[in-house]
Amino acid sequence: MKAFQLVGGSADVDQTTALNDVAQPDPGPGEVLVRIGGAGACHSDVSLMEFSAAGPRDTPMTLGHENAGWIEAFGPGHLEVPGLEIGAPVAVYGAWGCGQCLNCRKGMENYCLNITASGPGLSVDGGMAEYLLVPAARYLVPLGDLAPAEAAPLTDAGLTPYHAIKASLPVLTPGSTAVVIGAGGLGHLAVQFLKALSPARVIVVDQRESALALVADLGADHTVVAGPDAAAEVRGHMGGQGAELVLDIAGYDDSLALAAAVVAPLGRLTVVGVGGGTLPFNFFGFPYEASVQSTYWGSITELQELLALSRQGGFRVHAAQYPLDQAADVYRQMVGGTLQGRAVIVP
Ligand SMILES: [Zn+2]
Ligand SMILES: [Zn+2]
Repeated sequence: MKAFQLVGGSADVDQTTALNDVAQPDPGPGEVLVRIGGAGACHSDVSLMEFSAAGPRDTPMTLGHENAGWIEAFGPGHLEVPGLEIGAPVAVYGAWGCGQCLNCRKGMENYCLNITASGPGLSVDGGMAEYLLVPAARYLVPLGDLAPAEAAPLTDAGLTPYHAIKASLPVLTPGSTAVVIGAGGLGHLAVQFLKALSPARVIVVDQRESALALVADLGADHTVVAGPDAAAEVRGHMGGQGAELVLDIAGYDDSLALAAAVVAPLGRLTVVGVGGGTLPFNFFGFPYEASVQSTYWGSITELQELLALSRQGGFRVHAAQYPLDQAADVYRQMVGGTLQGRAVIVP
């Protein structure tokens, strides 16, 4: 079968990736083979390409950590579970932990205490191929009447902001404000989740006017163009007060500085983006009792909730589909900043 793989060697998309012929995997005991209906292209794949150039990584490795498809085959001796029959459409939960520690047993394998950042397209072959080998049926969530290519982005671009917002719902009371920095693949979903789950006013900041126009259409109350006056403008929309929740979907020095400038006392500043920026902290330079946390993906049960919200028509995904042989072009556009919305690779 064809697979879009990280081959390493350079951070350049054309040097570090290749469309290769690989053997179709054969599921062993406990494993499930999924025929891929869609695999989302994520900006963190670009980080993988850069890290691959910088240091050792097991390559070639098929990319794609945002996957959905249909159950093709089970390994020997599997337990029959309603909704998980051969041919059933499923989303693939992508954070693969040990399954045994306290966090894994809660469904939060994204915070496994024994295994870090493991999953398809991250540590083993991912979904940018015709088939994906999944190590356990517990990672599969039935899609019902959702189409795999449309549901694929929900497993990461949807699940990550959904988890971050859910954790902060207690502070998003009537009259509160949530600020979202970044209006792209994750940001446009974050806006809709905030509107679906909370009464908070939603303000979105981005450099791109076209991205701001999209989120305004999807329900954002105010949009602000990123720049030196952004913090004052955001505060102007809050009567000079701060925001109970700030989601920084970029994570660079300048976005973190903006986030710190608009968060309220007792507010939450959640860093979703993997930009790797630094947020200086001192007692006098930060609102009292505001907290800062990173976040990584979400739990399996939150993916189930998110898919239920999608089936209820609770939000729209702005995504376009591309064939496997255009995957390199998608990443070139992503690196060049010209890719609009989420890209889903359909083998
Ligand atoms: Zn991702
Ligand atoms: Zn674990």
